[in-house]
Amino acid sequence: MTIYVCGVTPYDSGHMGHAFTFSMFDVLVRFLEANGARVRYVQNITDVDDPLFERARRDGIDWRELAERETKVHIRDMTVLGWRPPDFMPRVSDEVKPIVAAASKLHAKGYAYMTDALYFDTSKYRGYGRLSHRTRRSMVRKLREEGLLGKVGPHAKRDLLDFPLWRPSGPGEPAWASKLGEGRPGWHIECSVMSMRYLGAQIDVHGGGRDLEFSHHESERAQSETLTGKAPFARAWVHTGMVRYEGRKMSKSLGNLVKVSQALQRAPAAAVRLYLVSHRYGHDWDFDWGGLARASRLVERLRKLLADDARASRATKSKTPPGRALMAQFKRALEDDMDTPRAVRVLRAALRQSDAAAVRAMLAVLVGTASLT
Ligand SMILES: [Zn+2]
Repeated sequence: MTIYVCGVTPYDSGHMGHAFTFSMFDVLVRFLEANGARVRYVQNITDVDDPLFERARRDGIDWRELAERETKVHIRDMTVLGWRPPDFMPRVSDEVKPIVAAASKLHAKGYAYMTDALYFDTSKYRGYGRLSHRTRRSMVRKLREEGLLGKVGPHAKRDLLDFPLWRPSGPGEPAWASKLGEGRPGWHIECSVMSMRYLGAQIDVHGGGRDLEFSHHESERAQSETLTGKAPFARAWVHTGMVRYEGRKMSKSLGNLVKVSQALQRAPAAAVRLYLVSHRYGHDWDFDWGGLARASRLVERLRKLLADDARASRATKSKTPPGRALMAQFKRALEDDMDTPRAVRVLRAALRQSDAAAVRAMLAVLVGTASLT
């Protein structure tokens, strides 16, 4: 199995929205591996991207310093939350050469044109918009809302949906010399190239937060399939829901972030993970402290059961295998489009039956190596 998940743009890492996305993919990877699959998992670091440069300019620091600091926060948080680290975490800034090669190839094949930047010609890809089920109007609206619309003109794009593959760098931004001129990559081509470079032309699962479905994933799909002539680029697209807080999507710009570090001050890491995975991966949901407190109480009971069991098995020197019926229910829940809330209910049933071995096996998938204390 090959899995590519769009990772963080390292400028505001470490909030519960990120933790939700990466914990969900962690459950997927751990569940597949627990069932004997060999998984190759890539999660990139988008360290060449507009929001990162804007933040670095605003705060008067070097973009590399900001990226380095926030990448560390992300990895530290996810380590505490018990993930199985990705096999590769490529950074865009290390991958510019193959990105230039891919952009040049699209240009040479006639799928891109050069004006003030090198743009991908979306009219040459049939089905642009089909991945996200959007009409042209709805695509234009989302680009405008996100400030990604740009301009149409003789020295700009030919069409509003076209997007840059390679562009001149602004002040304070990194610039690489290339045959396309000095500049930097556009956002979408970065992930197309890293996905293909580490996992091949076609992959099993491509994932990320739902806000990436359009325009990021739509554009990645168009570029990748155009480059390789192979479809589908990804056999399954998996998008995680948005986490709201105080009624609105958690975001830096609204100032309503709950940081992973804040949650960890109030609850053990395993409780934070269990709270996150007690929501469906594809649904939007509201973070609330009461829910985290309930997860903490559950973890405290699980911890007691496991401690008592460890003492008992040391005394008797025997081990009981997990209950078959419980483990089968747990597996069915996760096989059913990764129904993690149902899997957590099966975990509670294992606790009620004092089946410590089943609890241990289920926690290994749901919370990984996150600490129960
Ligand atoms: Zn991406």
